[in-house]
Amino acid sequence: MSGTLTLALTKGRILKETLPLLARAGIVPADDIASSRKLVFECTRPGVRLLVLRGTDVPTYVRHGAADPGVVGKDILLEEGADGLYEPLDLGIARCRLMTAAPVGWIPGPGRVRVATKFTGIARRFFAEQGRQADFIKLYGAMELAPLMGLADVIVDIVDTGNTLKANGLEPLDLIADISTRLVVNKASMRSQHAAIEALLAELREAVA
Ligand code: AMP
Repeated sequence: MSGTLTLALTKGRILKETLPLLARAGIVPADDIASSRKLVFECTRPGVRLLVLRGTDVPTYVRHGAADPGVVGKDILLEEGADGLYEPLDLGIARCRLMTAAPVGWIPGPGRVRVATKFTGIARRFFAEQGRQADFIKLYGAMELAPLMGLADVIVDIVDTGNTLKANGLEPLDLIADISTRLVVNKASMRSQHAAIEALLAELREAVA
């Protein structure tokens, strides 16, 4: 891989906000990512290629050195852990909050709280820190549905405008963490590809500013 810098990007909302930032740094995919079925994209700048992945897979690619830098949400880093990764740059995009939420007017009872979430690691830590007894139910999407259907009392989810919660009769309660998109780098790549990664970091810092 030496000579080529492979950037792992998170598809979806983060990708939409990452591409203009990369373009400001002079990195433009040779094909239109939105309309292509490809997963690897050469760039107009030689020596740089882009991978388009699910966010949860980005730290894995970077940690194993299959990608050099990665672009991923802080929510994923908090949930999956960031061992073996440097996190040198906050890209400041796809900002949102990780929050608990419950049906409007919900009052905690004396027993254990049932918490439905995709972020079971973060939720466990948060409730433990608060000294609140809880049971956790892992879901992969549509967390807002769980309290409505009696599956859980509370959810832990990403909140941006709060419209999704509101539309489902829920309200945000506790802020767990402010989230934004980060650039992560494999610690070994940081040594082996030092010059190329430092140059990219400098360009992205400028693009962010
Ligand atoms: P909102 O209705 O604006 O509060 O958006 C909430 C929903 O959009 C959540 O359920 C998330 O799945 C998704 N969402 C909002 N912002 C982000 C983000 N920065 N990263 C990932 N998902 C997000």
